[in-house]
Amino acid sequence: MSVRVAILGGGPAGLGLARQILARDDAGEMEVEVFEANAEVGGLAASFALEGVVFDHGSHRLHPSIDPEILKVLNELLPGVLHRRPRHGRIVLGGRFIRFPLRPVDAALKLPWRIKCGLLRDMLVRPSRYDTDSFAATLEGQLGVTLCREFYFPMARKLWGREPIEIAAEQARRRVSVRSPWQIIRRMTRQLWNRGRAGASFYYPDGGFGRIAEALAKDFERRGGRLSVSSPVTGLQHRDPGWQIETGEGRHEFDRVFSTIPISRLVGLMEPVPPTEVAAATSALHSRAAVLVCVVLDSARWTPFDAHYVPDSAVGLSRTSEPTHYAAARSHSDRTGVCIEVPCDPGDATWQMSDDELVNQVGREVTRIGLPPLKPIRAAEVRRVPWVYPVYDHGYDKHLATVRSYLDQWPGLVTLGRQGLFAHDNTHHALAMAFAAADCLGSDGSWDAAGWAAANDRFADHVVED
Ligand SMILES: Cc1cc2nc3c(=O)[nH]c(=O)nc-3n(C[C@H](O)[C@H](O)[C@H](O)COP(=O)(O)OP(=O)(O)OC[C@H]3O[C@@H](n4cnc5c(N)ncnc54)[C@H](O)[C@@H]3O)c2cc1C
Repeated sequence: MSVRVAILGGGPAGLGLARQILARDDAGEMEVEVFEANAEVGGLAASFALEGVVFDHGSHRLHPSIDPEILKVLNELLPGVLHRRPRHGRIVLGGRFIRFPLRPVDAALKLPWRIKCGLLRDMLVRPSRYDTDSFAATLEGQLGVTLCREFYFPMARKLWGREPIEIAAEQARRRVSVRSPWQIIRRMTRQLWNRGRAGASFYYPDGGFGRIAEALAKDFERRGGRLSVSSPVTGLQHRDPGWQIETGEGRHEFDRVFSTIPISRLVGLMEPVPPTEVAAATSALHSRAAVLVCVVLDSARWTPFDAHYVPDSAVGLSRTSEPTHYAAARSHSDRTGVCIEVPCDPGDATWQMSDDELVNQVGREVTRIGLPPLKPIRAAEVRRVPWVYPVYDHGYDKHLATVRSYLDQWPGLVTLGRQGLFAHDNTHHALAMAFAAADCLGSDGSWDAAGWAAANDRFADHVVED
């Protein structure tokens, strides 16, 4: 008898899992269907075109720390398309533009004396013990006050909408890969003779980051999988021994369900309705949203740099990226695109601004920090993305554990991916989760719970690379 598998969400995690299940030698009688709410696949890692210029949803790079086996699969699906590219960004620190990743000579020449002296002091006078009870205390103890004051704390306020002291220490572990100022110095000096290597380079597909998810989707369909886009799942009922899924097109029966949609949305869709304490824990898990303002300029390039990281608290934008610099080959020589990321909360003043107001606002902000004006504008598109960054408020771990142990009670239901595990991650982490889940699924529909628990322990070690 065939095993019917439903996968909720067509981002890298959902599509990676779907493709891996069908790519196995013993895929046999597996029937796999992916339900994706959007008209396009890829989720946060999707791309879209505007006036022929391809945009990603904010700056997206495939980091070379990706598992070589997963990279091998991507290269097989995208032959000759995935290129290793040098990073070429800047960060705005103390009102100056500094190369990012940091370079020793550039940083020494351009960093304001106030910051240089502060960094030196922080390196020499390091506390032997420090508190680890919040994001703020952990980072101050590890990196010193200067880097926190100039970069990490203003960036945290902007990205996550909280004071750093209000955020759990785990967020520092998951989001900041350096553990001391000396490590930053070591990384900078390594780059002197290691140009183009890990940290200073990334992989990027011709045609946009979204081609990774598109290639997974194409291969999945080629192997007989069913992909339903524009199909938001609106209900999920346990019908012993399987599951019934509701979409606008009706009800569908499955033996197993893998969900990569936001964990709180999943709980909200379930029937029977979860107990009150689970509903309360679910509503205590907060995600931050973002508005992405994408403009096409009638100009060959805006700046020579691929991205600008902007901790400056005087402006709302957190990062700009110019996707034409990410790709090895460009499609048009007479125009370029700029994507400006503005973190916010759904329904707040930024979220509610009209598209024209947002374009004007980011236009004023870029010139205020010393970047060139956004003109002449040929076209603009604003995307409002509700689930962008998980926020680890104090106590989030207890709430998450309550929700996950509730979901674990249901046979045949597994949650994974960035949104499904409420995890800070990169695409290669989401793909690692997908590949691990496929390995835990037996061709007879059985599930290796111990193997999945061990994989989840590994996922807890994922640290985001920017
Ligand atoms: C601004 C930004 C920059 C990033 N930069 C990088 C980078 O440089 N490098 C990198 O590796 N990673 C980067 N990431 C992370 C990367 O985007 C994620 O790791 C990846 O998208 C996670 O994949 P996922 O499938 O787990 O989740 P998602 O991509 O969020 O996919 C979840 C999918 O579920 C769908 N869905 C939701 N509700 C429903 C429903 N009810 N029914 C059906 N479908 C539903 C959504 O539409 C979505 O397609 C970045 C993320 C952000 C936000």
